Amino acid sequence: MEKTARREKNIRRQVLVVDDELVNRRLLGFIVSRDYEVIYAENGIRALELIRKNERLLSLILLDLLMPEMDGYELLEILKADPALKRIPVIVLTSEKTAEVKSLQLGAADFIPKPYDMPEVILARVRRSIELAEDNIIIHETETDVLTGLYTKQFFYQYCRQHDRYCIDMKMDALVLNINRFHLVNELHGREYGNRVLMLLADNIRTLLNETNGLACRCEADSFFIYTPHRDDYGELLAEYAERFRSAIESSRISFRLGIYENVDMSIDIEQRFDRANLACTNRRSTYTSSYAVYDTQLHERELYNEKLISDMDKALEEKQFRVFYQPKYNIKGDKPVLASAEALIRWIHPELGMVSPGAFIPLFEENGLVQKLDHFVWREAAAQIKRWKDKYGRTVPVSVNVSRIDIYDAQLEEKLREIVRSNGLEPNEYLLEITESAYTDNSEQIIDKVNLLRKDGFRVEMDDFGSGYSSLNMLAALPIDALKLDMQFIRTICSSEKDLKMVELVIGIARFLNVPVIAEGVETEEQYLLLKKIGCDIIQGYYFSKPVSPEEFNKLIEAEQKEELLC
Ligand code: C2E
Ligand code: MG
Ligand code: MG
Repeated sequence: MEKTARREKNIRRQVLVVDDELVNRRLLGFIVSRDYEVIYAENGIRALELIRKNERLLSLILLDLLMPEMDGYELLEILKADPALKRIPVIVLTSEKTAEVKSLQLGAADFIPKPYDMPEVILARVRRSIELAEDNIIIHETETDVLTGLYTKQFFYQYCRQHDRYCIDMKMDALVLNINRFHLVNELHGREYGNRVLMLLADNIRTLLNETNGLACRCEADSFFIYTPHRDDYGELLAEYAERFRSAIESSRISFRLGIYENVDMSIDIEQRFDRANLACTNRRSTYTSSYAVYDTQLHERELYNEKLISDMDKALEEKQFRVFYQPKYNIKGDKPVLASAEALIRWIHPELGMVSPGAFIPLFEENGLVQKLDHFVWREAAAQIKRWKDKYGRTVPVSVNVSRIDIYDAQLEEKLREIVRSNGLEPNEYLLEITESAYTDNSEQIIDKVNLLRKDGFRVEMDDFGSGYSSLNMLAALPIDALKLDMQFIRTICSSEKDLKMVELVIGIARFLNVPVIAEGVETEEQYLLLKKIGCDIIQGYYFSKPVSPEEFNKLIEAEQKEELLC
């Protein structure tokens, strides 16, 4: 970097002339000083002193071979073995052919034959050696990642393409290798430890490359790309890596995930091949143990399907292909279940794909931010629906809407919600917001602040999918919420697993202590319903009462309840 800057600013470079004969020093000094600043040494020892002192300034060394005290060969060897000094090009001064060969083998950049009778040639050789060395530094600096010495992504792709040109028939694999939960490794053990882990992984990758003649780069942080001739022992390879980490790094619980796109399609571009390996990598099974996943036709079809969903979304909104369904929540505290509220759940009636469930597109749209548009649509629809029911039946059926993680970071969130509620003539407490538990654990401080603001405005906030994330019980006590929705997973096994039943009882106990109602979702059977009622659950949502239904169907549920009220 320093050298590049010097070249750009046209700063005079320094050249060291090492020769035991004063005449030679003077003569060479005279020739070279036209373009360079010159310093002198009369033997190897003095030269080494000056080199170490001027290490950063020196651009070139002109070195005589036969000298007393320390000769040129010895000095050359010392320089080339020293990582800080080996970048300085050395031109040897010699009168013998055999010496030329030996010094080039020792790492000399060039040689100048004695006697020095062609000053222009000498100057041209000096200039060329300096430029070559500087270019080499520039290339090396951008070509490789400073920490690991592996290629940077851009150069890696270029070398992969070059490889393909020469080895057109070779079966190649594209691999993406990541370290599981690397941000936590850094957080728990410090950056230095994290760097050691990355360097060790890079060393292991280098060993693989030496075996296979492959290429690799560090793409970003803990993500490594590898392009290697096909092999089918990746399971063993991962196990080997984990083992080496265990013995090389104390208290290491490092594990990896590997995405493999094997026998790559040479007709698609290199970036796309690694996109596929990356997709397989994000599709791995576990984030706690080392595992790998292979890109296959199923993944390929899913990728195409997802692409279609993404590209169709805007048109679908315009053409009103999205519909909001409502699933009732019943209060079961009294003798008879009473309709308490409803959850708004989006449905996509796609003209070619039929009914697409939100499980297929919400996580996808959460990744690329499109979900916000959908959420806003659902929020408006839900508010308008509450108003319609209010007008039609003279009562409020509060509706909860799902708020995505990305919405929480929207600075205008409160304002948007206030406007939606206001423009439909509603009060904020008629409108409920569901925020999934994992959002709380991702960034608890920011989300707690946001939820506090929303509740101050009068909105009620329910924590969705409680038990699926990792919030601790004491964190629960600090959370500002109005209801706790138990994750469906617990309900599924509540009748068969003693442990899950105990867990639900424990949560209900805590919720009671915090004065917060508990909602159980995913209740499908009478047995589950009765058990939940017995242990003190407040509200139930699930197929046992009703699936999510269209607003017209939901009207019937309200009407049925009104009829019952009249009869009583
Ligand atoms: P969620 O918010 O936890 O919604 C509950 C899901 O459980 C719904 O699935 C619902 O249909 C389903 N469910 C309710 N009762 C039962 C039951 O008894 N048995 C079974 N097996 N399932 C039941 P759905 O509608 O497919 O939605 C899935 C997820 O998609 C939702 O989970 C929510 O996270 C997300 N989602 C749905 N609509 C929206 C939306 O408008 N915005 C956002 N951001 N996410 C949404
Ligand atoms: Mg929900
Ligand atoms: Mg839920």
